[in-house]
Amino acid sequence: MTTTDLALTELLTLSDSGQWHRAACRGDPNHEAWFPYPSQDFDYARRICAGCPLLAGCTEYAAQTGQSGVWGGREYDRGRVIRE
Ligand code: SF4
Repeated sequence: MTTTDLALTELLTLSDSGQWHRAACRGDPNHEAWFPYPSQDFDYARRICAGCPLLAGCTEYAAQTGQSGVWGGREYDRGRVIRE
């Protein structure tokens, strides 16, 4: 199984915040949208993040734990923001 086969919230269980069940991306079936190729936009994921109650904590989590993919409406590469 690759990373993109996992639901994003399965990755989010790494957090101890206990709030990830409120994530707007929970159960989202479009896994690839959260790990876009450099040539792809991530408008789909960004729109979902914009309505998520965890947005602020999510970006902090991604930066602090070195995540890649779309988190909190931004794209990260090993914890560094590469696209907003
Ligand atoms: S801000 Fe985006 S990536 Fe983070 S939990 Fe919410 S929907 Fe998921």
